[in-house]
Amino acid sequence: MIIVMNDNATKQEMEQVVDRLEAVGLKVHLSTGDSRTIIGVIGEKGLIAEQPIEAMPGVEKTVAVTESYKLVSRSFHQEDSIIDIDGVKIGGGNLAVMAGPCAVESMEQLLESARVVKAAGAQFLRGGAFKPRTSPYAFQGLEVKGLEMLAKARELTGLKVVTEVVDVESVPVVAEYADMLQIGARNMQNFKLLTAAGKSNKPVLLKRGLAATINEWLNAAEYIMSEGNYNVVFCERGIRTYEEYTRNTLDLSAVAAVKQISHLPIIVDPSHGTGRWKLVGPMSRAAVACGADGLMIEVHPNPAIALSDGKQSLTPENFSLVMKEISGIANLMGMKMA
Ligand code: PEP
Ligand code: MN
Repeated sequence: MIIVMNDNATKQEMEQVVDRLEAVGLKVHLSTGDSRTIIGVIGEKGLIAEQPIEAMPGVEKTVAVTESYKLVSRSFHQEDSIIDIDGVKIGGGNLAVMAGPCAVESMEQLLESARVVKAAGAQFLRGGAFKPRTSPYAFQGLEVKGLEMLAKARELTGLKVVTEVVDVESVPVVAEYADMLQIGARNMQNFKLLTAAGKSNKPVLLKRGLAATINEWLNAAEYIMSEGNYNVVFCERGIRTYEEYTRNTLDLSAVAAVKQISHLPIIVDPSHGTGRWKLVGPMSRAAVACGADGLMIEVHPNPAIALSDGKQSLTPENFSLVMKEISGIANLMGMKMA
């Protein structure tokens, strides 16, 4: 259930409502907008229905939420959420660009990638230190050494670091080094991992599962938010269909849909979404045009020798070209490239 407080409800009236709900064991989440406060109530349906909340002072109305996700929903928080990562904003008209290699391979490779993506206007450096690879024989990542390199690259360039966390055990170490935790497609429904990320104090980039419906994806975000971590950003990265020319089918309609259903920002990864570097530019432009709040793009100093995903990685030159093209579209859309 969602409780909408009056525009002029006092803090004391709001606290009375919260106390009443908590006293019977219900979980309460507050969303304070520009003009009014919305209280999300989570718990057993019957218990919620028993509370005479509409009779309490300061309450305008109560709204039953039928979807299984609540905190993620726009009915809980009407304005676009802005995720602020030490001054770099995602959402609410700010276009965030996360770029870098698929995997951290060496300090030289990472630093060169960081310098070129920074020069082209990206705000985040991406790069996997823990790699979830389809084959157990493929390069698995440099793990903690890779995290140390990411932190070094941040120190030298000022870029924020986003990197994947693949299991519950490594949440603390990834959270120690990264500015944002990435939960990959293969782990979108790893509920223990979602809960652990929800308990961490780091913003989370939640990629769409390999074949997840929008509803399953929204519920995955609810797992994170229900632990009190409201800093969640979605990332559309394509889904498995019967099409084989592209690695995945990039579902841009999901971007528009998620923006209607949820207040959380959503970015697009056209690299994994297509698997082909030549499609990354056109799909980046389309993503910004359909309302995405940002992009995640794989860039490698020399894609031909990349240890993973070279086929979909842009050269530094092509990345700066794509950045120029999207800045024109961002302008048309009234977005700031922070
Ligand atoms: C990645 O971003 O490196 C990655 C593995 O992506 P996904 O989880 O979308 O496959
Ligand atoms: Mn990759």
